[in-house]
Amino acid sequence: MGLLVVAIDGPSGAGKSSTSRGVASRLGLRYLDTGAMYRALTWACRTRGVDVHDQQAVAAAVADVRLESGTDPLNPTIHVDDVDVSGPIREQDVTDHVSAVASVPQVRAQLVERQREIIGEGGIVVEGRDIGSTVWPDADVKVYLLADPAARATRRAAEQGGAVPVAATEADLARRDAIDSGRTASPLAKAPDAVVVDSTYLSLEEVIDSIVAMAVGS
Ligand code: C5P
Repeated sequence: MGLLVVAIDGPSGAGKSSTSRGVASRLGLRYLDTGAMYRALTWACRTRGVDVHDQQAVAAAVADVRLESGTDPLNPTIHVDDVDVSGPIREQDVTDHVSAVASVPQVRAQLVERQREIIGEGGIVVEGRDIGSTVWPDADVKVYLLADPAARATRRAAEQGGAVPVAATEADLARRDAIDSGRTASPLAKAPDAVVVDSTYLSLEEVIDSIVAMAVGS
């Protein structure tokens, strides 16, 4: 398993994080949440008062940000210039603005380069939108994890402790999917050779089992 790379892509709320962390723990691999990296740069822009729709301003603001991603699946961490941002990056303000920041080509180039450095050390499960298609097309296992929109919204609303109505969560997921799929720079896309796993009617353990089986057989 030492140098194995497992790429898990898919839309928001399909269960990528729990699945990826579970697969990494079971196989003794590291774990990288690339969504957290886009969220961290979004947090940096928002705390610096940068207009996230001004692509030049975003590119300039994030160019010298120091980002540290911890890769322990049991305790993934993320720091921006030594500040622990693991809590703030999950707040609604970041969620509302992250797709705009993630569509800036310089942001993607900067993060893809960093992701490749981390992946290159080998032995890792990486979750995102463009890992199998763009970041690491040579991944040993490529999964495109799906779930139907209602199931995704119900799970995400439950994670938020019922604070946000399911209908509002479903609308937010649809809005982010549309931006993520429509952008020109490495959009959310299934790699041609990715295996589609539909988690709508599967438990988390069943999804993890199926991906672990692919990895062991790869
Ligand atoms: O996975 P998560 O929902 O935390 O990702 C937040 C956002 O980061 C996504 O909506 C997308 O805009 C962006 N993202 C991306 N490419 C990735 C991972 C995330 O554009 N590989």
